[in-house]
Amino acid sequence: MQQPPHTQPPTPNPQLQLRFWGTRGSIPTPLAANLGHGGNTSCIQILIPNSEHPEATFIFDAGTGIHSLGRTLAHDTPHNIHLFLTHFHWDHIQGLPGFGPLFSPHNTLTFYSSHGRHELRRILQAQMAAPYFPIEFDHLASTQHFEHLEHHPARIHDLTVEPFALHHPGGATGYRISRNNATIVYATDHEHGNPAADARLLRAATNANILIYDAQYTPELYPHRIGWGHSTWLEATRLANRANVKQLVLFHHDPHHDDATLHNILNQARQHFPNTTTAQEGTTLTT
Ligand SMILES: [Zn+2]
Ligand SMILES: [Zn+2]
Repeated sequence: MQQPPHTQPPTPNPQLQLRFWGTRGSIPTPLAANLGHGGNTSCIQILIPNSEHPEATFIFDAGTGIHSLGRTLAHDTPHNIHLFLTHFHWDHIQGLPGFGPLFSPHNTLTFYSSHGRHELRRILQAQMAAPYFPIEFDHLASTQHFEHLEHHPARIHDLTVEPFALHHPGGATGYRISRNNATIVYATDHEHGNPAADARLLRAATNANILIYDAQYTPELYPHRIGWGHSTWLEATRLANRANVKQLVLFHHDPHHDDATLHNILNQARQHFPNTTTAQEGTTLTT
């Protein structure tokens, strides 16, 4: 079952665009029944309308969706790619070895995470080390930099990216992305119920234009998944109401949820927070 396309009134002076390249949690599920929302794992891109720095590319997470994103970046011009990682579970890094721009000498990639620079480099090297991948990270043609975002924001041109800690096994980082008066909050891989983490997320999400939230489970399934590190569509709507966000996006879809199931979830969520949508691979939101 296909859900209706997003109907957005045109934004008069758009500041940020958000493109979904991978919306699935846990593991890719490219089944026919899932393709309305997509089978690729977490990857979003932030675009700046009429940017003065068209070479700058902003990506959050490197799930399998990043492969298709890479194909949109021209091979023969330099790109300055800023890649923010929430954490290193497979569904957030698995697409990296298939990200074409890594292999071009024109490109510079800067990786950001809440881990120290050397630790971040070691983690990414290990993912591509033999016998897992034929090309060693150290032999990539592109140039790489590594940045540690602990409690301070990154400012790149006129984009500000503020990290905050989520509640997830092994830790995960949420990002508050803002430009002028527009804000998008990327909060995936978060389990509600930890008071300190919930307070941090509420603070980050307050008055955001768009909140992207980990809605992997239904409220019925959640009691059987406590401690697994994910939340529900109902908690998503509660947070959206408390934080007074303009639009809520349900994200990190469960591998078992096909398009029909997600359509039902969306209908229920809209009864609690009307301006809700489900993240769909290949779509763009503007704010
Ligand atoms: Zn995940
Ligand atoms: Zn995770």
